[in-house]
Amino acid sequence: MIHAIRIHEHGGPEKMIWEEVPLPAPKPDEALVRHSAIGLNYIDVYFRTGLYKLPSLPATLGMEAAGVVEAVGSEVTEVAVGDRVAYAMAPIGAYAQARTVKADRLVKLPDGIDDRTAAGMMLQGMTAQYLLRRTFPVKAGQTILVHAAAGGVGLIMCQWAKQLGCTVIGTVSTEEKAALALAHGADHVLLSGRDDLPSRVKEITQGAMLPVVYDSVGKDTFAASLDCLAPLGMMVSYGNASGAVPPVDIGILAAKGSLFLTRPTLATYTARHDDLVATANDLFSVVLSGAVKIEVNQTYALKDAAEAHRALEARRTTGSTIFLP
Ligand code: NDP
Repeated sequence: MIHAIRIHEHGGPEKMIWEEVPLPAPKPDEALVRHSAIGLNYIDVYFRTGLYKLPSLPATLGMEAAGVVEAVGSEVTEVAVGDRVAYAMAPIGAYAQARTVKADRLVKLPDGIDDRTAAGMMLQGMTAQYLLRRTFPVKAGQTILVHAAAGGVGLIMCQWAKQLGCTVIGTVSTEEKAALALAHGADHVLLSGRDDLPSRVKEITQGAMLPVVYDSVGKDTFAASLDCLAPLGMMVSYGNASGAVPPVDIGILAAKGSLFLTRPTLATYTARHDDLVATANDLFSVVLSGAVKIEVNQTYALKDAAEAHRALEARRTTGSTIFLP
C-alpha cells in the first residue's frame, strides 16, 4: 500500500483526501515509478472542480512527477530499473508516493537536472516549448504578450522567449509579480486591473500591435487579448485560470483583422513518443544551458496538497510548486 491524494467527488480543496491505496504491479507495457517530487499544475484544479472530466471517481489527482523506476513490465524497452525519470500529461494519478505508468510516457532525466527541478518544469516547460516553437514559432525581433507572466508557465515563457530574441510583454496582478517577471526576461509588465491592455500594447509597439498573444487566463482576458493583435495575428488561448472562455462568434476574427485562434493542449503536442522526447530534450537543453532557470518557489508535503491548491487559486504562488511525498 502507498499514500495518495484522492478525490471521491468534485469540489473545493477540502475534497482532497490523503489516504492509503493499493499499488498494482506494472502491466507488460508499464513501469512502476517511486516518486521523489510531484508537480502542481493549474490543470489539477480543473480536474478537482470538474471543469475537466475525469475518467472515473475516486481518482488520484496530478499529471506530473519525477522519480526512480522500481520495476518494469515484460515488454518495456524505454526504461530500466534504477533509471531516473519524469513525466507530464500521463494519465492522471501523480499525487501518490508511487504509481504505475505506461513506459513510453516516461523521459529519462539528464544528470544535470535534479528531481525537484524536473517535477517543477516538465509540464509547464514542455508547454512553453510547444507554444513558443510549434503553435506560433516566434522569431527574433517579434514582440509577444504572455499572460500570468510570473506563474509557472509564465516565468519559463518569458525567459525562453527572451532567449529566442523576442521582446516580451507580460501581464501580472501585483507589483511583486511584476518585479519577478522583469527579472526573468519580461521587457514590459502590465498590471491586470490597472492597465488597459490594448492601449498599452499600442504604445509599446508604436501602433503595430502583436503577432501573437499567449493567453492562459481565459474568460477575463479573452476579449482584451484579441484587441492586442495585429491583423493576421494569432490568439493562442491555452488555459482558463479565470474560468472557461464562453462560446465565440467566429465572425469576430474577421472583424478584428482576419485573426487566427487556436486552443492547444500539451497532450496533443506530445501524444507521439518522438514528439514527447524532442519536446523534453529541447527543454532540458535550455535549462542546462542556463538560459531558462526553473524557479520552484513553493514546496509542500504531498499530504498538504489542498493548501497548495488554495494558494494557487488565490494567486498567491509564483513560478513552480512541487510536493514531496
Ligand atoms: P500559474 O502558476 O500561471 O497560476 C495561474 C496564474 O493565473 C495565477 O498566478 C494568476 O497570476 C493568473 N490568474 C489570472 N486570473 C486568475 C484567476 N481568476 N484565478 C486564478 N489565477 C488567475 O499556473 P500554471 O503555470 O500551472 O498554468 C498556467 C496556465 O496555463 C493555466 O491556465 C493552465 O491551465 C494553462 N496550461 C495549459 C496547458 C496546455 O497545454 N493548454 C498546459 C499547462 C498549463 P496573476 O495573479 O499574475 O494574474
